Amino acid sequence: IEEGGEKLRSIICCIMGHVDSGKTKLLDCIRGTNVQEGEAGGITQQIGATYFPAKNIRERTRELKADAKLKVPGLLVIDTPGHESFTNLRSRGSSLCDLAILVVDITHGLQPQTIESLNLLRMRNTEFIIALNKVDRLYGWKTCKNAPIVKAMKQQNKDVINECNLRLKKIINEFQEQGLNTELYYKNKDMGETFSIVPTSAISGEGVPDLLLWLVQWAQKTMVEKLTYVDEVQCTVLEVKVIEGHGTTIDVVLVNGELHEGDQIVVCGLQGPIVTTIRALLTPHPMKELRVKGTYLHHKEIKAAQGIKITAQGLEHAIAGTSLHVVGPDDDIEAMKESAMEDMESVLSRIDKSGEGVYVQTSTLGSLEALLEFLKTPAVNIPVSGIGIGPVHKKDIMKAGVMLEKKKEYATILAFDVKVTTEARELADEMGVKIFCADIIYQLFNQFQVYIENIKE
Ligand code: GDP
Ligand code: MG
Repeated sequence: IEEGGEKLRSIICCIMGHVDSGKTKLLDCIRGTNVQEGEAGGITQQIGATYFPAKNIRERTRELKADAKLKVPGLLVIDTPGHESFTNLRSRGSSLCDLAILVVDITHGLQPQTIESLNLLRMRNTEFIIALNKVDRLYGWKTCKNAPIVKAMKQQNKDVINECNLRLKKIINEFQEQGLNTELYYKNKDMGETFSIVPTSAISGEGVPDLLLWLVQWAQKTMVEKLTYVDEVQCTVLEVKVIEGHGTTIDVVLVNGELHEGDQIVVCGLQGPIVTTIRALLTPHPMKELRVKGTYLHHKEIKAAQGIKITAQGLEHAIAGTSLHVVGPDDDIEAMKESAMEDMESVLSRIDKSGEGVYVQTSTLGSLEALLEFLKTPAVNIPVSGIGIGPVHKKDIMKAGVMLEKKKEYATILAFDVKVTTEARELADEMGVKIFCADIIYQLFNQFQVYIENIKE
């Protein structure tokens, strides 16, 4: 799609928010209705992402009568199930997502992971819109399937409108307490300074057109440069997974550029840079055939923005959250290896030089960074002596166990959003290494705090 000579890539958006606020359901809602109406419109389920083409967005927003000049080819929404709060955003350099949707449950207001997501978005300067979800839960709500929110509100009786306003006001206050100005999007005169709220229902679709339109228009208005398609590959590893028949694979989001089968790539690895060759570029089958489990479409080449599974040799120690680099004909491999490892080095530099501290284990480099940053803040101040990424194995217990002789209370693993293998758990019990697991950073902190206080007594 060309306009004025510039060629834009798709917008990349992630969904954040507290567990059960309706993130997955909201995506289902955008996807589902169209499928039901027989207008799949080319929506494709990608690896860790869903692609909504412009045509589809135009359909869904038609009622808003916006002459939605869509210049982008579509919207790629990142939805990595399982671990939701950190993995999707990179902390340094160009962040993976152009925009985010922060989902807040209107019946609960701001919850711990809402605040955590909010802080992350602010830290990374990512623009976002707030979906105030589950409006249909307001007592007496009249369903107006997939209607723009203003139209839906007009159908509601006074009590519903009053309750909605009360809750909205309360939530705006809660955001204010976090130092954030927010306002209903259609009343927001100061976009940029004040963040917009769209009431939505992921069940009946009210407000979803508004949400889609806002995302596209805001992106096209404020980030044309960022969205301009360039040939230079910009690609982030989302997950490292073992897949039967394919060995260890990496799921990536290709933000810009083009990948080809046979490309030589450099990826950041736990034990140093990984240089390998793309064996296959895979995506799931289109929606209809999603039921065909375990089979993938093979591609010779893929253009941004897309979610892709890459198979290649030697990916076992690849780190989620880091950049993937493609070696071009004129590139110096040694220099590329170095830049691939830069992501890791800034993290390693945060480890306590004294050699005394807890062991920290997380799912991705991004979450590791966030956790280390948090532990370093003066109010928390927990030293870290070792780090790991991925599931907790016996070797991690051994490493954490070194502290038993130095400072017993630090013989502890703070495990964020990762599994602990049975053998590791057994060994930990045997050795006396403590493991704290959580999906929310400050819960880890609380658990550790309680433990320390008990020791002191
Ligand atoms: P996630 O953890 O944020 O992905 O939340 P889910 O999408 O899994 O939703 C959690 C629960 O809330 C599910 O039972 C959904 O059916 C329900 N839910 C999500 N959105 C809505 C909504 O807009 N209205 C109502 N009534 N229920 C919702
Ligand atoms: Mg979910």
